[in-house]
Amino acid sequence: TPTIGVLALQGDVREHLTALATADALARPVRRAEELDDIDGLVIPGGESTTMSKLAGVFGMLEPLRAFIRAGKPVYGTCAGMIMVAEKILDGREDQETFGGVDMIVRRNAFGRQNESFEAAVEVAGIDGGPVEGVFIRAPWVESVGAEVEVLAEHGGHTVAVRQGNVLATSFHPELTGDHRVHAFFVDMVRNAACGDPGRI
Ligand code: GLN
Repeated sequence: TPTIGVLALQGDVREHLTALATADALARPVRRAEELDDIDGLVIPGGESTTMSKLAGVFGMLEPLRAFIRAGKPVYGTCAGMIMVAEKILDGREDQETFGGVDMIVRRNAFGRQNESFEAAVEVAGIDGGPVEGVFIRAPWVESVGAEVEVLAEHGGHTVAVRQGNVLATSFHPELTGDHRVHAFFVDMVRNAACGDPGRI
């Protein structure tokens, strides 16, 4: 059983812990760099990416997390977490740092403000059993991707789920629905990485 951390600086940590446990992982919150040594994969939750970025700096987590991703450990970012794994952000705060990992440009708050949040059925490549219910809350979209990035889902003509090797990212929040297929998909990525297998797709 893989042990998967949820970055617990800010955001909807508890919902991810529950979703991961349902998907047969041992899930625990991660706040300090040393805790990265004890996990096989990491979820970066939704929340507020400028705050998360600031706190990651304050807690000395920026470089350790970049190293974790470079080392090929599986990471899954939802919403603000997607922003955190982007190499470049549009409409970010001036000094907003990311961890990187996916060669993409992500536009913050692209789908509109809080009161324009919505749900939509989203077909995700690699997820069997029909579309997932995408919950979009001040969600980003992916403006463009590099050659190494696989686009897994689109909504309204915009890319909303991607994978580059060990890093998965979605604009939406599967942890807020009762459907944990995306988490199960990520748990599989972690299992396969632990076996030295790059996994499907
Ligand atoms: N708009 C937020 C940000 O820029 C993300 C919203 C979310 O994670 N639900 O960080």
